[in-house]
Amino acid sequence: MTNQLLDTKIEFLKGVGPQRAELLKKELGVFTFGDLLAHFPFRYIDKSKVYQIADITSTEAHIQLRGKITDIQVVGERRGKRMVATLKDDTGEIELVWFKGIKWLQNSVKKNVEYIVYGKPTLYRNKLNITHPELDEVEQSLIANQVTLEAVYSTTEKLTAKGLHSKGIHKIQKNLVGQLTGQLQETLPPYLMDRLQLLDREAALINVHVPQDNEVLQKAIFRLKFEELFYLQLSLLRQKVIKTETIKGHVFDKVGDYFNTFYQEQLPFELTEAQKRVIKEIRVDIGSGKHMNRLLQGDVGSGKTIVALLCMLIALDNGFQACLMAPTEILATQHYESLKELLGDMNVTIELLTGSSKTAARKIIHENLENGQLQILVGTHALIEDKVKFKNLGFVVIDEQHRFGVQQRSKLWRKGKQHPPHVLVMTATPIPRTLAMTFYGDLDTSVIDELPPGRKEIKTIHRFDSSRLKIFGFMEEEIKKGRQVYVVYPLIQESEKMDYKDLMDGYESITRRFPSPKYNVSIVHGQMKAADKEFEMQRFVKGETQIMVATTVIEVGVNVPNASVMIIESAERFGLSQLHQLRGRVGRGAEQSYCVLMTGNKLSADGKTRMETMVKTNDGFEISEVDLKLRGPGDIQGTQQSGLLNLNIADLAKDGQILQVARNIAVEILKEDAQLELEKNYRLHTTLQKLFSSKVNWGRIS
Ligand code: ADP
Ligand code: MG
Repeated sequence: MTNQLLDTKIEFLKGVGPQRAELLKKELGVFTFGDLLAHFPFRYIDKSKVYQIADITSTEAHIQLRGKITDIQVVGERRGKRMVATLKDDTGEIELVWFKGIKWLQNSVKKNVEYIVYGKPTLYRNKLNITHPELDEVEQSLIANQVTLEAVYSTTEKLTAKGLHSKGIHKIQKNLVGQLTGQLQETLPPYLMDRLQLLDREAALINVHVPQDNEVLQKAIFRLKFEELFYLQLSLLRQKVIKTETIKGHVFDKVGDYFNTFYQEQLPFELTEAQKRVIKEIRVDIGSGKHMNRLLQGDVGSGKTIVALLCMLIALDNGFQACLMAPTEILATQHYESLKELLGDMNVTIELLTGSSKTAARKIIHENLENGQLQILVGTHALIEDKVKFKNLGFVVIDEQHRFGVQQRSKLWRKGKQHPPHVLVMTATPIPRTLAMTFYGDLDTSVIDELPPGRKEIKTIHRFDSSRLKIFGFMEEEIKKGRQVYVVYPLIQESEKMDYKDLMDGYESITRRFPSPKYNVSIVHGQMKAADKEFEMQRFVKGETQIMVATTVIEVGVNVPNASVMIIESAERFGLSQLHQLRGRVGRGAEQSYCVLMTGNKLSADGKTRMETMVKTNDGFEISEVDLKLRGPGDIQGTQQSGLLNLNIADLAKDGQILQVARNIAVEILKEDAQLELEKNYRLHTTLQKLFSSKVNWGRIS
């Protein structure tokens, strides 16, 4: 059975026509019946619950009232012009106010007729009123709605002007839903439907738009969310299966002198259990002949560098070269230096290649890479230039993944010969599990979920600007103990000038409070030349300055173990993951470390939650979960470009559990039937094929 009905052009739907169709296409991307069906409501009004006017106490929620309009007046001039109607029920009166569409309303709103009124009360001059409520005559509303739950749709100004406000959309949805019976193909196999007690597809789509009652509605929503997430997981995991079948990797089955010598003679500390586990996971992977594509998540300071080094040494033991790519020059340099130090006098060749490498040095590096004398190359984007050719690149480490695109990853891939190099992507920005499962669904993941022993938990406090003097006092005490302090200012592009002024003002008051020669203060910001930045950074790294005043340029990666205080100015202007990254700059040594979040007195609800979360926990994963809830998946760093997140009904911030169920089932199915050849999986096979051919538009599953 085909789904001709769903492919029907939207202009042919009753109540639409050419003009509205044009708008629906432009404004909502709705071209067909199927597209409209996939324009899901974002909320429902409970028509069964009617408030009494006397009971309204808050302005928190949308409410429904039932009463008669006893008075209508137009008052005010020009922009203040408004229509005010008095609504009365048995318990009291409330004013309804409209600023727009007054002419039309004057003609259509009737006195002494019973209305159902829906809207959100607001407090104006100590009186409650409702601005721009929805009105429905009781008679009509009763006839039109046998149901008590009414779907609410997102719409646009232009659509509203053509009568396609939420109610208008609801109306055409009803026209569409009326034609569906017996027309929709099921997309999930019966054994899954039975197992999860799922509503069938037709009933789900009908009920999500025109719910029979709340119980069925919840089942409908679950069914549709499950379907969306399930097929997403199934396709991601299938891709992974196909990749493992078609792309082979170098077999690194030897653990030889490089690894062993390092492990026995150079390793400066005992690895944590988590580090050992992750190395084991990677070793199994790269020894198996499949191509490794692995994401390594580990909170700041969890010790990812040593893991990367040990892996690179295994590559060397198997006769291959390795490279490590970092997003900034400062970071690449630091990696290079710490790797060199870790290697000590071991016989390993390692070089640094960045944008500012001199031509002569560059030439030698290029040569030695090609003839194989150079074993490990550390660098920035400079690594992926075409000129850089390896003799036999076997292992690639990418640090701070979210700054590199997929394209860059694949460019590195192509530098391998015969097989692509194994890839280890390291990120210190923990990603909520749900996002990792989708965004990185095709990667394997390893997690270092344990910090090296002896670390003291960073103490975090939140203070208002008014306590700055006290904070200065605290800084002084810490500096007296020999510690160093970061003071960080926000840098947000739109108001760069103002930020710069804030930074400079801050710098000035700090140098006044901490004058030379007793104290030295470094400053680093975006408008400085790279060489000057580097110079100032180095002064701080070497301990020549006690205070580092900076914009967020120090956000990622730098390691100054003696710095134990992080003061974040205007902390309310930072996102949670940024705050967490910044805090990660301290707590790297044995001393007790502190993070002070400075804010103004006025905080938004979100801002308050962010500060509270930071004070409450040091756990990056927990923080990332809160971040996801506050901002939604689209705003989490690095995920924006991913088409995978164009979900229609599921929400990664809220539907983690459904996602987990969906993924587990997808894994189970593919384990038994990787090719989806079994009779019972026929529907899965055909649906997936359609999804791939229609370029991931989950709403068009049909
Ligand atoms: P990140 O995961 O943030 O990149 P690093 O690899 O820079 O963390 O490690 C942070 C610090 O912890 C470094 O100074 C490193 O030498 C140290 N470190 C790493 N692993 C251990 C361990 N198992 N025991 C003690 N210190 C460790
Ligand atoms: Mg690191």
